[in-house]
Amino acid sequence: MSVASVSGFPRIGQNRELKRAIEGYWKSKNDLETVRSTAAALRKRHWELQRDAGIDLIPSNDFSYYDQMLDTAILLNVIPQRYRDLGLGTEDTVFAMGRGYQGERGDVTALPMKKWFTTNYHYLVPEIDDSTVIRVNGTKPFDEFEEAKNLGILTKPVLIGPYTFLKLARGTEATPLKLSDKLVNEAASTYAEIVKRFAQLGARWIQFDEPYLVLDKEEGDVELFTSLYEEILAARSAGSAKILLNSYFGNIADIYDTANGLGFDGIGLDLLEGGEENLAALSAHGVHDGTAIFAGVVNGRNIWRNNYAVSLGLLDAVAQVADEVVVSTASSLLHVPFSTDGETGLSDEQRKHFAFAVEKLGELREIANLSSASDEERKASTELAANQALFDGSRVSADPAVHDRIDHLTDADFTRQPARAERQRIQREELGLPLLPTTTIGSFPQTQDVRAERAKLRKGEITQESYDDFIKGKIVEVLRQQEKIGLDVLVHGEFERNDMVEYFGQNLKGFLFTKNAWVQSYGTRCVKPPIVWSDVSRAKPITVAWSSFAQSQTDRVVKGMLTGPVTILNWSWPREDITHEEQTKQLALAIRDEVIDLQDAGIKVIQIDEAALREKLPVRRSDWHSKYLDWAIPAFRLVHSGVKAGTQIHTHMCYSEFNDIIRDIDAMDADVISFEASRSDLTVLDAIHDANFETEAGPGVYDIHSPRIPSEEEIEARIHEILEKMDVSKVWINPDCGLKTRGDAETWPSLEHMVAAAKAVRAQLSK
Ligand code: GLN
Ligand code: ZN
Repeated sequence: MSVASVSGFPRIGQNRELKRAIEGYWKSKNDLETVRSTAAALRKRHWELQRDAGIDLIPSNDFSYYDQMLDTAILLNVIPQRYRDLGLGTEDTVFAMGRGYQGERGDVTALPMKKWFTTNYHYLVPEIDDSTVIRVNGTKPFDEFEEAKNLGILTKPVLIGPYTFLKLARGTEATPLKLSDKLVNEAASTYAEIVKRFAQLGARWIQFDEPYLVLDKEEGDVELFTSLYEEILAARSAGSAKILLNSYFGNIADIYDTANGLGFDGIGLDLLEGGEENLAALSAHGVHDGTAIFAGVVNGRNIWRNNYAVSLGLLDAVAQVADEVVVSTASSLLHVPFSTDGETGLSDEQRKHFAFAVEKLGELREIANLSSASDEERKASTELAANQALFDGSRVSADPAVHDRIDHLTDADFTRQPARAERQRIQREELGLPLLPTTTIGSFPQTQDVRAERAKLRKGEITQESYDDFIKGKIVEVLRQQEKIGLDVLVHGEFERNDMVEYFGQNLKGFLFTKNAWVQSYGTRCVKPPIVWSDVSRAKPITVAWSSFAQSQTDRVVKGMLTGPVTILNWSWPREDITHEEQTKQLALAIRDEVIDLQDAGIKVIQIDEAALREKLPVRRSDWHSKYLDWAIPAFRLVHSGVKAGTQIHTHMCYSEFNDIIRDIDAMDADVISFEASRSDLTVLDAIHDANFETEAGPGVYDIHSPRIPSEEEIEARIHEILEKMDVSKVWINPDCGLKTRGDAETWPSLEHMVAAAKAVRAQLSK
């Protein structure tokens, strides 16, 4: 029977137990002991679930309190001095590096956070400086291995591999990282040491995750990879643990031959994303004697049932070249929710089309069994027949009105008139804003009272009317407060929204919603993406009433807030039966209707968030345009091309890494963009400068992902840095993202400092 392997399992818990325990600890509601025992109970449950599902290679060290990249940094002793100086214990050091620390022991910001490849999961970026010495620090992976062993489960420890670690690490602002021979040697011998320790503990397999291999190679990358792994593989001895080089989220065709030549015990390939290229590489170069191919066929990125016939086809293709095939998840299951079991948001009829992490374990086992079955056995298999039935015929019928609209689109629908420079002139006149206008990204803290009211509405304890009155009260409150501290462009605060994507989904036809299908986004934060089930269109106006109410309550401009089509799709579970391009176009038309209605209701500034636009940029540069930007950017223009010149269109993005797609972002043809820039270096400003970026821009002047309050001086210095690179007439002043996850206690002082800093700079400029 074929061996079944899981790359990683969700750690937050079926009911987000880990989140509750950790956040409770941060708020001093429970102690560290509770966090530790909750964590141990979750690990036990997850290992046992996998064992009971018949999984042969069960991961350990896929658990983390905050982030596995951060854990790896700590394990490799890559801990900047400022965190060491705090003198905190193990867990508190993790939290200080992950979310910053402000207290009796000091005041430090968190490490920067970046998106984990093409997912909505964020990892912490390790910081290496001149004083860094890479060596084994702490015992986390070994402890967890032993913990499982004591439960009678021999796990496969999982670590982020040295290549990915070093490629994702950064230097400091003063000294950008140069990978010296010293560092590379230290990393190689540290991993070799880890291999030896696991061998002593009795591990049979160790999995090194190297997703960075799916990216384009730069000069020196192949040499780096080779020199690291030659040393690590040499640390094996007879009978010691086998080493699995695991890749996912794309193909490693350009380095497969090299990797294969090194003689790994296993190579993990994603056969879904980049499957074609991976299979071609396998047949071109063959498989080294004694290397098992871990064939990733169960999707760790989407929640639809696996089509067994397709998976078996892939496995049969691999079996033609590889003597040993291990049936595996295509990536860690971290990125899918826990279980469809008890998911009351879905009907039985719908539920049967979905597989979350737990269900995927069952799929993996069944596929593995079928893969080693004979043709006769497959024919007789009731599992295979039941699976086939899900894919026979069409699951949903098409909406003719939606298709008709799409068929009749012309180039003019993708082009806004007049040209941007002309619009910017008209808008300056009509809006009458000061230089360096201040604004926020949309949401204000969703405090306990807001969540409580929403829960009451959901449970039917209050009427819709009284809920709406409550929200109106919050809007008025937040408007008064914004006026008081002197912000220029106000927002209504987004209190009516649980989530920027789910909220829109709920008001569009074609979506399904779950009650408990959470996936981790960063730290303890989770998101609950809606599911695109059928063709999408707008059922009725969505935000118009809230935005017009807000505008009626103040003399200042209130910005309307929408989520863009690319982001809605990227933060939903997309359909697998039609293309992403098609789904995005449907969404763009739905949001376009909302944009026009907002304008007609007198809203002069409309922000269309494309927080997730970069997230799904293909890992390979050669695919960027042809497989993504060529339709994603026009889809955004389709949303706003119908508005008047005087209506100012903003967009917002949750990252600053757009240096290499800066022209594409300008081609979205928004009037203003805000983006995250505070946790990262400001090289994006050079890119803006060099590209003659036309869109006005607000690079975030402080980090909202941390509870830390920035000082006025700090923000003022930031503004000056920005002004060195950008024309003052094009600069906006804003935080780096929405304030929803923050508390009032830090939000208002931070914004006051921001407005004061903007005013101070304005005063200096007018001298
Ligand atoms: N307008 C949204 C908010 O402020 C944007 C959030 C985001 O970019 N993730 O919450
Ligand atoms: Zn954001």
